[in-house]
Amino acid sequence: MKRLYIDFDGVILDTITRLYEEAERQEYDISDNEFYEKFNYKCILKDKYIINDSIECINKLLASKKFEVSILTHCHSIKEASDKVKYVRKHFKDMTVIICPKDISKTKILHTEGAILVDDYGGNLREWKESGGIPIKFSTKTNKKDYDYPVIDRLDKLLDMF
Ligand SMILES: [Mg+2]
Repeated sequence: MKRLYIDFDGVILDTITRLYEEAERQEYDISDNEFYEKFNYKCILKDKYIINDSIECINKLLASKKFEVSILTHCHSIKEASDKVKYVRKHFKDMTVIICPKDISKTKILHTEGAILVDDYGGNLREWKESGGIPIKFSTKTNKKDYDYPVIDRLDKLLDMF
């Protein structure tokens, strides 16, 4: 089994678009950390924001027994972390959720060597590769050729790759 870490925001749920909409509505500057620290994530952790059947796809990955799956997510606050864990646990009876403080690289809290990271953010993927991991870009956009890493737009595409 290969170790597989799946990012949450922008891969499992389309939280980022919602977050920016909320910031605009509440007249917050999105570069202001205070906004993220105070934000009530519960209001955007909803099934209607699931990206390309991500939950169903993760179930397929688990069933294949090819991967040891964990969800790896950056969080700004303990409340955000707690709300995300509750959301994940609503869908998966047995799932590891690794919370990474926002100011720490995802490579610094895990073994990266030979492990796969699926993430929508290029910065995370670059660091992952530099640390000996296998980066996979998640993107629903059409200009997939522009990326430096293999790109998927559905998590079950991993089944054809490994
Ligand atoms: Mg992300």
